[in-house]
Amino acid sequence: MIIDKADVIVTSPDRNFVTLKLTTDDGLTGLGDATLNGRELAVVAYLRDHVVPLLIGADASRIEDTWQFLYRSAYWRRGPVTMAAIAAVDMALWDIKGKAAGMPVYQLLGGASRTGLLAYGHASGVDLPSLFDSVNEHLEKGFRAIRIQSGIPGLHAIYGIASQSSFAGGGEARYDHEPARRGARPVEEDWDTRAYLTHLPGVFEAVRNEFGPDIPLLHDGHHRMTPIQAARLGKALEPYDLFWLEDCTPAENQEALRLVRQHTTTPLAIGEVFNTVWDFKDLIRDQLIDYVRGAVTHMGGITALKKTLDYAAMYQIKSGMHGPTDISPVGMAAAMHLGLAIHNFGIQEYMQHGPKTDQVFEQSFTWRDGMLHPGDQPGLGVELNLDEAGKYPYERAYLPYNRLKDGTVHDW
Ligand SMILES: [Mg+2]
Repeated sequence: MIIDKADVIVTSPDRNFVTLKLTTDDGLTGLGDATLNGRELAVVAYLRDHVVPLLIGADASRIEDTWQFLYRSAYWRRGPVTMAAIAAVDMALWDIKGKAAGMPVYQLLGGASRTGLLAYGHASGVDLPSLFDSVNEHLEKGFRAIRIQSGIPGLHAIYGIASQSSFAGGGEARYDHEPARRGARPVEEDWDTRAYLTHLPGVFEAVRNEFGPDIPLLHDGHHRMTPIQAARLGKALEPYDLFWLEDCTPAENQEALRLVRQHTTTPLAIGEVFNTVWDFKDLIRDQLIDYVRGAVTHMGGITALKKTLDYAAMYQIKSGMHGPTDISPVGMAAAMHLGLAIHNFGIQEYMQHGPKTDQVFEQSFTWRDGMLHPGDQPGLGVELNLDEAGKYPYERAYLPYNRLKDGTVHDW
């Protein structure tokens, strides 16, 4: 189990993905997801120039020791680039350990705590009729929980609305499916928090009237509100019984959530841009959130996210792992194995990759009746088809950003 080869593979089937492939001297291979949306090549350089040389000759069985070595020996700790690189190594080592043991990774993590993972999809529309169509499409696909995003009167293009793709730079991909647009510069969108706060409660009232009280509904505020605005929204949405309100304020200031919490019983989820347990420490200890949104890919791997979620479990805080299309099928598989094994699983975001991505990454997970399962292949259960991957070279792409009506850059 000595690592004698480490390849960093960049492929862009429906979007850019960065994958680390480790090969041991006895021929086992492991995959890790190192995709950092819009900044992919920074992680490629970090891995190729600084991490791969340290891995050759290392013992692939030493997962914890390798994590600690890569985290502590760099001296410069944390940050999305560093932690995505460490995450990729960690996932690949769990994949190898599973293959060596002949077991799926969830078995190595303690075995299944449930039969499947409740997953939520993204419904959106510029207006209520198109939003209702989108909710119905998701119900027909089997989703049992749905995120609701709506267009706002007076705004041309905002985050997460599928049918606004023509405003958001065109292209063949659905906008809600792939917001990162290929091109030399990010697409500019517009924003008005007052219009949003006025409009959104009516959208949830209409969705509850149309689809009833039972289906879990979620909403993403995408870091756009001040704490007092977020508190007002949480209060206004209480009658509609949300599963969670996500990213209601910018996430850097953990203290902001205290003010929101004082004013609303709407459950709160945050942390998709976080990269270590330290970003969550106060939020968890002070019980200011209900769900941890960290992704295996951005939180330093299975090893680090499991520790964060075990800490969260002491406070009855659950997982809600980030799962947009920029989490590769390898990162999604890692999330599913971890989610199946831990006690405090909450819900899994599931956007579904495009057909080209599914050809590049051969997967063994299942999706039945609104529930995900990672499957029982040894390791993570994902293999990379290098011939298919080679057909799609890297293409520069950026997430959009937005400006207020007076031209001020606003949180995206
Ligand atoms: Mg989000």
